[in-house]
Amino acid sequence: MVPTKSAFVGLTLCTLCVIAAPTPTSEEPATVVLEARQAQAPATFTANPNIGPGGSTYKDSAHFRVYGDSGTLADNTLKLLEGAYSCFVGSLGWRSSGHSYNDANDAGPWTKVNLYIVNDLPGAAGVMHSDYNTGMAWLEVQKSYPTIPGVTVHEYGHGLTYHEKYWVDQSRTGAWWETLANWFADTVRVSSLSCVSQADIHRGY
Ligand SMILES: [Zn+2]
Repeated sequence: MVPTKSAFVGLTLCTLCVIAAPTPTSEEPATVVLEARQAQAPATFTANPNIGPGGSTYKDSAHFRVYGDSGTLADNTLKLLEGAYSCFVGSLGWRSSGHSYNDANDAGPWTKVNLYIVNDLPGAAGVMHSDYNTGMAWLEVQKSYPTIPGVTVHEYGHGLTYHEKYWVDQSRTGAWWETLANWFADTVRVSSLSCVSQADIHRGY
């Protein structure tokens, strides 16, 4: 039921993330820390065009920038992404994707996640990348799939997993990488969480 191409690419990417990402500390995240860092988030994060290839055609929302379109497709993609952000960061308390992987104290800056809508993505529907210097996830999605949760939320789920830090560079979590990404997508598709309605999603993959 899940696009084979996306799962395959994510699996490939997982390998890349393990190689590229810094080794996390052995500290365990605490609920009290989660609550504090979420409360400090500004209403709108800052865009960084140097994460990924950049470009002159884009559209912004509070927590994301979509490149490659500035019309309805961008609007619908941003709506899906913001719905996912509201669910997983706002309601469920995942570490915000605005935080750099390298931000040890979650003190900022707060940066938008870039998603690139591309014409061609050989052998893939979507790909998640991590930018080593900024510690930010960025995404590529083939132009037929930006509003499909099974692709865009799946790849953003990889991004949230990366930003959460404690899932990276640990052999025991590697086997969960694709499963967890599918959980993100399926939660947006079928969950009764109130935030899901904000995504105005397609009820298909
Ligand atoms: Zn994947």
